[in-house]
Formats: sequence, structure tokens, C-alpha cells
Amino acid sequence: MLGITLENVSKRFDQVTAVEDINVQIKAGEFFTFLGPSGCGKTTTLRMIAGFYYPSTGCIKFGDRDVTFLPPNKRNIGMVFQNYALFPHMTVAENIAFGLEVRKMSRDAIRTKVAKALDLVRLSGLGDRKINQLSGGQQQRVALARAIVIEPDILLLDEPLSNLDAKLREETRAEIKRLQLELGITTIYVTHDQAEAMALSDRIMVMNAGKVQQIGDPISVYARPSNRFVASFIGETNLITATVEEVNGGDVVVKAANHKLVGLRSNANKGVSFAPGSRVVLSIRPEAFRLVNDEDVANIVRGKVGLAEFAGISVSYLVQAEQIAVKAMVINSGFQVLNRGEEIALTVNKNDIYFVE
Ligand code: ATP
Repeated sequence: MLGITLENVSKRFDQVTAVEDINVQIKAGEFFTFLGPSGCGKTTTLRMIAGFYYPSTGCIKFGDRDVTFLPPNKRNIGMVFQNYALFPHMTVAENIAFGLEVRKMSRDAIRTKVAKALDLVRLSGLGDRKINQLSGGQQQRVALARAIVIEPDILLLDEPLSNLDAKLREETRAEIKRLQLELGITTIYVTHDQAEAMALSDRIMVMNAGKVQQIGDPISVYARPSNRFVASFIGETNLITATVEEVNGGDVVVKAANHKLVGLRSNANKGVSFAPGSRVVLSIRPEAFRLVNDEDVANIVRGKVGLAEFAGISVSYLVQAEQIAVKAMVINSGFQVLNRGEEIALTVNKNDIYFVE
């Protein structure tokens, strides 16, 4: 097991800066995800770790070893791509054995290792099948088996579930997690799917436009987004602009349109100013809202239902509350759904308000 360090890593292609000044330390055995929209530099960063690209500046280390300019075949990495990249004319076993044959391993050793890898990805018995006789999910498992059979120090997975349908994605996702836990291998996973990132990762690096936006475990990235981009890219949120009225001990009182809201001073990013009159931006998750009941006296937002969507376990409301549009997801609604145009009153705990800016 090896940790991975990126120090001031940038990559330029002619005029394009694909990745700018990345600094991150991935721990040995960690499941670490690069998450961001298309074109943010995830794959470029992964390819530098694999050795397919060399950084324009900066350095990459595996453990204490500087690998910045080491060719890919000297890095002992296993890699899985979105399109599987299997050899279609070869059998499952031949595909998995390929990397071992390149390493000139004995026939017996290869047979044992291939059988073990097939077992690990739950494909025992399918070794003699041709690749084109397998489903997409099975092909992706072969790709996984081929990556791990060489006993790599590091596993790199680039959008490995993209070509699978929704149900298979979830199944294969669970398989990948199980396998990673079983092998304890340092793993980097690339995806643009925030739900996938949250479900799988020990930590996530959120990227946008070639730059790191935030690094943290799924809960902290969700609950304490470092900026507006992270707040809206991870899950859904309401970003509400407000003006600070006063600070009362640990509480901050703000006004958004005519709604008075109280949040916690400690629930804020560095640099947020709470001087009276300052402009702040609040992030409130839809599920943080509840319908007002008798005990609620504070943090009430009143408006009219613009849209109501019943989803079984929850009801989603788009609420027009004067100049502010709010999305609320009310769980446990007792099968009561307010109609469009009806008055609605929502409340939120001060704990669930986060000051992003
Ligand atoms: P996707 O999810 O679409 O694969 P990504 O986050 O992996 O996106 P990259 O493929 O790393 O993004 O690309 C980052 C930026 O660098 C993009 O603007 C892309 O056009 C540019 N880029 C990537 N590879 C090259 C290349 N070989 N030559 C020139 N520009 C490149």
C-alpha cells in the first residue's frame, strides 16, 4: 500500500491549462475520488499519476519515491477505463493473464492468479468465454480483474461505470467498494457523478476548471461546502443572498427579502464578514426545511407553493417566498400534499444554515 502526493502539479497543452497547481496527499489504502464536471481536469490528473502524461510543473510521489517522469510500466499501477479496453478476440482468462505474461510469469502461477482474480470479481467459471459473449457489467468486472491481477500498489479507475445502465451501475459500484475494502488498495476514482462519489469515497477532491475547489470526506464536503460551486455541485441546495442585521453571541441574524433568519456564526467559511450590513450567501439544503408546526417560532419562511412533486418518501416543493424561490424536500409528510398556489410555511434549524460567502 502506497500513499500518493501531488505537489504544485500543473498541466498545459499548448494554450490550454488543463490542471492548475494541484496539491493533495492521498493516504495509503484510501478510496479517493476526483469529482467535477466534464472538462475540469480529472482525467488529465489521473493520467499524470498513471504516467501517460508528464506534468508541466510540479512533482508526483508514490510513498517517498518521486515518480513524476517515470514511464507507466514502471509504476505498478492497475487501471480501469470507461470503455473497458479489453481485447475482444481473446477469452476472459487470456485478457486477465495478459499483464502477467508480459511479466514473464510461469504458466502455473498465471493460472492460479487468474483463477483468484476471477473469484474476486465473482466471474469464476467464465474464464473460457470470449469478451463479446459477456454483458457490459461482466466486461467491466473482467477489466477490474485484469487491473488487480498484477497486484498493483495503486488502482486507478476512470469513470468505470459510465457505460452501464442504472441498475448495473449500482451493483457494480457496490462490487468495486467491496473489492477495494477486501484488497485495501490505494484507489483513485474519477467521476462526474456526485452521488457515486459520496457513496464510494473516503475522501473527495472536488475540481472545477482545472482547480481544486475542496478536499474532504463526503459529509464535510456536503455540510460545509467551501464555495458556491461546491455547494451546488454536490447535492442540491438553496443559495440565498442576505444582509447581516446583527450578531448576538454565537448567532447571526440576517435578512433575505423580508424573511428574518438566524444562523450560527461558527457555520461559515473563512473570510465571511458578519459586520452589520454585509452581504452574505446562505446555503440551505432542501431537506433541511420542515413544514412549520406549533412549536416553531423562529426561522420561518412563508410563501406560496409553485410546484409540488410527490415522490413517495418525500414531497418536493418549489416555493415562491416573495422575491426568493426556495426548494424544500419534506420527508414524512403524512401523505398530505399542498397544492399549487396554497400558502406554505417552512422552517429550518439554525444549525442547517451554512454561510458560504
Ligand atoms: P471528462 O469528464 O469530460 O473526461 P475531465 O474532467 O476528465 O473531463 P480532462 O479530460 O482532464 O477533463 O480535460 C481538461 C481540459 O484539458 C479540457 O479543457 C480539455 O479540453 C483539455 N485537454 C485534455 N487533454 C488534452 C490534450 N491532449 N490536448 C489539448 N487539450 C486537452
